[in-house]
Amino acid sequence: MKRLAILGSTGSIGTSALDVVGANPDAFEVVALAAGSNLDLLEQQVRRFAPPLVSLASETAARELRRRLASGRTEVTWGREGLLHAAAGTGADTVVSAIVGGAGLLPTMAALSAGKVVALANKESLVMAGELMTAEARARGTRILPVDSEHSAIFQCLNGQIGQVRRIVLTASGGPFRQLPKEAFARITPEDALRHPTWSMGKKISIDSATLVNKGLEVIEAYWLFGLPLDQVDVIVHPQSVVHSLVEYVDGSVLAQLGVADMRVPIQYALTYPERCVCPAARLDLEKLASLTFEAVDRQRFPCLDLAYEAARAGGSWPTVLSAANEVAVQRFLDRRIGFDEIPTMIRKALDAHPHRAVHSVEDVLEVDREVRERLAGR
Ligand code: NAD
Ligand code: MG
Repeated sequence: MKRLAILGSTGSIGTSALDVVGANPDAFEVVALAAGSNLDLLEQQVRRFAPPLVSLASETAARELRRRLASGRTEVTWGREGLLHAAAGTGADTVVSAIVGGAGLLPTMAALSAGKVVALANKESLVMAGELMTAEARARGTRILPVDSEHSAIFQCLNGQIGQVRRIVLTASGGPFRQLPKEAFARITPEDALRHPTWSMGKKISIDSATLVNKGLEVIEAYWLFGLPLDQVDVIVHPQSVVHSLVEYVDGSVLAQLGVADMRVPIQYALTYPERCVCPAARLDLEKLASLTFEAVDRQRFPCLDLAYEAARAGGSWPTVLSAANEVAVQRFLDRRIGFDEIPTMIRKALDAHPHRAVHSVEDVLEVDREVRERLAGR
């Protein structure tokens, strides 16, 4: 039986992870849940999975949950301390890191430092601190297992043969604006951008998928997870989201992983690895697949992808600048304060305003993150 702590349990990935747990009750025990502010959903999760520990973002929310669970045995904590306790202070073997954005960095790092296996959905942490996180995992003799569907696909196709890989190819659906002319980008509303053609996800990653910054973050994520040079990490648009990514070997053989667009498949693989078991997701119906198509990314209309490659090549503080500026820009777009086309502009300006520097610790990374947010708030 694997003991799990799930950070971000009320989100899209968190609820899918609990679905996997619910479908395999003999395989998993939930020892901690952490969430932001969705009290009602967290209460339901506690009643169903009975974790000994939960954490919420605010003290007010924690007090209310304590009141509602008066007779239960679950300890309710809150804030940064509570989150770190859920990440590192329990008997969990595996921590599902599924908080959104830079807020996931500290708890993910804490889980690694405590020697936990991390099933990583929170790609932003690896973008910000890939070198530190992979070094910490090595030093503690533990692993970061991918939850992101593309990285899970590559992980499944790699079979330990990284030395014989020519390149890996991340597939991108292309998002809702794959065919929209550039002139129309300024008029895109949050509702338009949240309507992803193939995946149902949290708000931030839905917008990230529409700008393709998500694929850029995934390039950096792949770089750290698999240790391949950036020029061996490619991206291709595949609108059907059936092929989740591909590995091309030196001999020209290309291996791909296919499946339905349901995150429960890669989440479950990370949780049962190296085993497989029956998954609650639907099955791929090959006879109903009309066609699988592939096309190049239009880098003019989607400049965020190249911004990510640029930040990744620069390394040091720049990937954090990219990620933090994007997070601020996405929130402003969702708040209708900037246009969709201004997201890449804000990232570009943030990179240009920030002299590149080395980062040696998580504190350094968080300082960069703070600087970027403060600079953007001052505008
Ligand atoms: P979401 O917005 O649906 O959920 C985020 C979760 O994090 C919620 O439970 C929220 O309460 C919690 N949270 C946010 N801030 C917090 C804080 N400060 N303290 C504690 N909890 C906090 O997001 P999501 O779509 O589930 O995505 C989560 C992560 O997984 C992101 O990094 C995303 O890029 C990645 N990811 C998501 C998908 C997907 O299909 N949704 C696929 C691949 C990767
Ligand atoms: Mg992905």
